[in-house]
Amino acid sequence: MYIIQIASECAPVAKVGGLGDVVFGLSRELEIRGNSVEIILPKYDCLRYDQIYGLQVAYQDLWVPWYGGTVHCSVFFGFVHGRKCFLIEPHSEQNFFNRRIFYGHPDDDQRFAFFCRAALEFMFKSGKHPDVVHCHDWQTGLVPVLLYEIYQPLGLTHPRVCYTLHNLQHQGVTREHILRATGLNRHAHFFHPDRLQDNFNHGAINLMKGGIVYSNFVTTVSRRYAHEIMHASVNYGLGHTLHVHGGKVGGILNGLDYDVWNPETDSHIPRRYGVETLDAKYDNKAALRQRFWLRDSLKPIVCYVGRLDHQKGLPLITHAIQYCLQNGCQFVLLGTSPDGRIAHHFAGLKRHYNDHPDCHLELGFNEELSRLIYAGSDLIIMPSLFEPCGLTQMIGLKYGTVPVVRTTGGLADTVFDADYADKPFQERNGYTFNDFNHAGIESALHRAIGLWYSYPNHFRELMVNGMRCDYSWNHPGQHYLNVYDYIRDK
Ligand code: ADP
Repeated sequence: MYIIQIASECAPVAKVGGLGDVVFGLSRELEIRGNSVEIILPKYDCLRYDQIYGLQVAYQDLWVPWYGGTVHCSVFFGFVHGRKCFLIEPHSEQNFFNRRIFYGHPDDDQRFAFFCRAALEFMFKSGKHPDVVHCHDWQTGLVPVLLYEIYQPLGLTHPRVCYTLHNLQHQGVTREHILRATGLNRHAHFFHPDRLQDNFNHGAINLMKGGIVYSNFVTTVSRRYAHEIMHASVNYGLGHTLHVHGGKVGGILNGLDYDVWNPETDSHIPRRYGVETLDAKYDNKAALRQRFWLRDSLKPIVCYVGRLDHQKGLPLITHAIQYCLQNGCQFVLLGTSPDGRIAHHFAGLKRHYNDHPDCHLELGFNEELSRLIYAGSDLIIMPSLFEPCGLTQMIGLKYGTVPVVRTTGGLADTVFDADYADKPFQERNGYTFNDFNHAGIESALHRAIGLWYSYPNHFRELMVNGMRCDYSWNHPGQHYLNVYDYIRDK
């Protein structure tokens, strides 16, 4: 099968969170299974160019329709750790992708709407007729709209579209100028409750809603999150749309690329280890302490790695730091936030704990450092308010770092409580809690810390259970191929 992924991220060259890992890992799995996969990305100035091999111009003069005129673009081609990537570079005064960061500009709606139009124009002009176009999140929600409304009548009749929702919190709610900008000129047709009009703000259009309405199949990144967005209030206003299109909505748990995330082969950690060589993990613990000037003592290290976003349960993360330090643990955090107030809060906490011998907060994005933290810690917390899938807990599991998570979304599908899970012991791999409050996270942390101190052999068994879980792309890869096959026949 010939598949084109259109996305705003692809690890490791353009990664803000899990989306980047998924685009890379799924593409790789599909290729291993004999499919041909290409990825189309914006050519950001902040790409990790050191990780792109053989970058060269692939299509010189692409003229992309935009607001009744055209924008001149070049399309580059390069390999990202073996994946075939096309990178679109517009030459316009708005400098859409030369902003030094991936997201967070007031005109993000225009930047990514332009990207959608450019990606399709490129496919059309270069004669690409994939069986499936797979696009992701609000940034590429216009892809199926443009494909079926503009490019299919022009002859791009073959591709079917799979659209994956990684997070419903961000939907691309914007104004109707985006319709004019991208050539979707029949205003009354598109600005309609059955198509792109936002369900709540009737003066706005919703790009994610457009993606849901127009694509052939909609997936989200865990079965639990699929259920939650259909039946609970975490759909941020898209519940009705998801119900209307419920026949083509499903949940497929993200995989983790074990070629990239594996303590047995990870070249960025001081000592590699696996189930049979678990003791070597403690050399990484020592290295982590050294790196962050933590004192050497018989204590578990609890960590948090991830975006510092409302979604991640910031009040509970803040509380957990204090609770862990008061209950015989060391605490390490690696995270960053584009939100000024959140960044300010954590900068204050960092100053507060600066001289603490058992605590270090590192504010920034650093993948190499994240690997040392995964490898060197004993416990990892994810007290998310909601979590579509979550890769961090899966990485923790693979690295023998026992997750303590709130039972929501993908966390509920991957972490099974050591004491209470409805599963045999070998399938239990962490600690979970339900209530989004201090008592909730304390109940789980208390049990986890207690096991570490009182029953170290039992704790080790829990670590091994986690390391033996198979959250690779093996199963999800097959599920996605089943979806692709299903929509191709339609
Ligand atoms: P989300 O997609 O909501 O950000 P996930 O748990 O699905 O959360 O994926 C997070 C990914 O991003 C993981 O690979 C994690 O290691 C990585 N990550 C997040 N924040 C940082 C950071 N500050 N430094 C390094 N890696 C990070």
